Amino acid sequence: MRRITRISCGYYRNSRHSFEHTAAAVRGLYTSTLKSTPFLQLENETQNIFQHLCSQQKRAYAPNTTAIANKCWNCKKEVPQDMTCSHCHHLQDVNSEVNYFELLQFPQSFALETSALTKRFRQLQSVVHPDKFSNKSSREQTNSADWSSLINKAYKTLLIPIERGQYLLKLNGRQIPQDNSALDKEFLMEMMERNEEVEEANSKKELEEIHERLSGELHEKVAVLAKVFADNNLEKATSLLVEMKYLLSIQKTIKNKLQSLMGS
Ligand SMILES: [Zn+2]
Repeated sequence: MRRITRISCGYYRNSRHSFEHTAAAVRGLYTSTLKSTPFLQLENETQNIFQHLCSQQKRAYAPNTTAIANKCWNCKKEVPQDMTCSHCHHLQDVNSEVNYFELLQFPQSFALETSALTKRFRQLQSVVHPDKFSNKSSREQTNSADWSSLINKAYKTLLIPIERGQYLLKLNGRQIPQDNSALDKEFLMEMMERNEEVEEANSKKELEEIHERLSGELHEKVAVLAKVFADNNLEKATSLLVEMKYLLSIQKTIKNKLQSLMGS
């Protein structure tokens, strides 16, 4: 089976159901032809099924999500999972499972210099900019648009502290709980009081003051979070991220209230 599983269709991998469907089709083909078909022919047939299934999708080729060594779609040489082939320099298919830190060539850590991140983001965007591929093949044009949107997504995720924190948790197989289980009662009481304070504030000045105070607290939490992640204390990181989420939601309420105050 090893050679068969090597042939992958990333598009299908993105969808569990479809992938299982494809896997079942391949298994069926494999078991029905195993005894009577020479191996090379079997592999070709398997490939044909994949190609057929993939071509039924809107795009004839799929984002590459396999972790196994890649072959450049153009020169067919084995290449690391980079954006461009090191041999022929053609833009490769997007790897949607790429680690965002690796994509932006940053160490996987919560602490990072945002100005350096922005600089790297702009460099990468200029490499894959669709304008540079307007005279190239349609495959490269599609790839440039795909890379461009993936780089955007990765940049936004790593730029915004709460997103970056949640992404790091995810890389560690965790996520923040959807309920209040990670919070202590004291914090919840405090948040309720904060909400009341916002409800009662009726002037622009009052609201802006609360907003500023919250910004200061968020700033402090981001600093603590960097230390906590550096110590690999994921438990504490989780509760800090939940707290930040609360503070951010109060800030959002303030912004909405300010907008309606200005509108009236
Ligand atoms: Zn190549």
